[in-house]
Amino acid sequence: MRVNALQKQRFQIQNKGLLFNKELSKIEVDSKRKKFSALGNRRWTRDLLLSTWYQSQHAKPPPVSSSLEYKVGESNGGFDNWRFNFENNTEESVWDDYNITRDLSITLNKKIKIDMPTYGGGMSYGSVSLSVMLARALSSKLANSYTSTGEGGYPIELEMYKNHVITQVATGLFGVNEKTLQNTPIIELKYAQGAKPGLGGHLLGDKNTVSVSNMRESVQSVSLFSPFPFHSVYSVEDHKSHVEWLKTINPKALISVKVATPHDIEMVAIGAYYAGADIIHIDGAYGGTGAAPEIAKKNIAMPLEYAIPIVHEYLTKEGVRDEITLIASGGVRTAYDVSKSIAIGADGVVRGSSELIPLGCTQCGNCESGRGCQVGIATTDEYLSQIIDPNWGSERISNLDQSWKLQYDYILSRLNLKNFKELRGNYEVLQNVGKKNE
Ligand code: SF4
Repeated sequence: MRVNALQKQRFQIQNKGLLFNKELSKIEVDSKRKKFSALGNRRWTRDLLLSTWYQSQHAKPPPVSSSLEYKVGESNGGFDNWRFNFENNTEESVWDDYNITRDLSITLNKKIKIDMPTYGGGMSYGSVSLSVMLARALSSKLANSYTSTGEGGYPIELEMYKNHVITQVATGLFGVNEKTLQNTPIIELKYAQGAKPGLGGHLLGDKNTVSVSNMRESVQSVSLFSPFPFHSVYSVEDHKSHVEWLKTINPKALISVKVATPHDIEMVAIGAYYAGADIIHIDGAYGGTGAAPEIAKKNIAMPLEYAIPIVHEYLTKEGVRDEITLIASGGVRTAYDVSKSIAIGADGVVRGSSELIPLGCTQCGNCESGRGCQVGIATTDEYLSQIIDPNWGSERISNLDQSWKLQYDYILSRLNLKNFKELRGNYEVLQNVGKKNE
């Protein structure tokens, strides 16, 4: 059979991606720093990308001798300017013989315990490939945690991991049906995303392939739009009806309500509580993939560093703090970011990009394009999708999980705390060290 020019081009891209992923597998940071000198940005710096790849391979943080910065970026604000009090001391390279002795679990609304303080955020079939969804689901199962379908439907291949898969219901209602709602321990009602509040979701026609359109019950190659907001919800009472609708379909599932972080986020949070939600998931600025417009990511929603304490304190003042779980997402990159989020009042964190970096994401920002992801993550192209092997991907995310667990235990031990419950809302353990260049 003759291979036409397009197929040739696809194979070349695919091979490049495979080679890149192979390269990641044997990355030894010190000798590769120069080679990757053009990587990264102020939030996901070259050091953070390289150190995440290192952790995904070695299941521990990079050695101190590598001088790689694996805790903070260079945004000159928020988490990047904060340090735990113990960080003034010289850090030893302790990882080779490190034993985890603390309880690193969190409990979602007194009902579901997960073995680490994070779970995976929604990434739809369409925004990422099925291989990526499978890699994330398998690693969630291994970690006794969760991943979320996003709003593109529930591929049948995920069913074997159904106890670890959250079904998302968003405004487009793509692929949402009774079976997928009954198949899950947690239903995520997505009202907005912190990366693009008020803008809804878009899947460009290029990514709407045959299988994606079948899953979404739409027409192939047509751009799809999930409007903002739910046009059936304009009050707490409407929201309550929504929650009751989902509880009627699946009475056992926890209901998580995902919202962006407007200036009155505490009112949104308390409204979610009175509507019957089990989890309030606040999604701050700086999250999202490269498909979210930069201007929206950086300028609309409130950053988590502001939003978390506002919600935590308001729920405490109202006497309901322990009746609803506060989960945060939006630009959380490291184990230190997770721990800082909890120290300012969150119960746990949802991860997004930090689960894609282990798979080779370089934060290049081409996610909206059907064939623009050179490493086969944000694609639905049948050739590019093959670049990621789900078992390889799962292993790399699991290795990162293990490395983060070592760091959680280390942070808690240096603060003389037994668990994350003791860290929650414990502002005094943090200090602002100011801008790097001041
Ligand atoms: S490598 Fe680029 S296109 Fe692929 S997921 Fe990462 S940011 Fe998106």
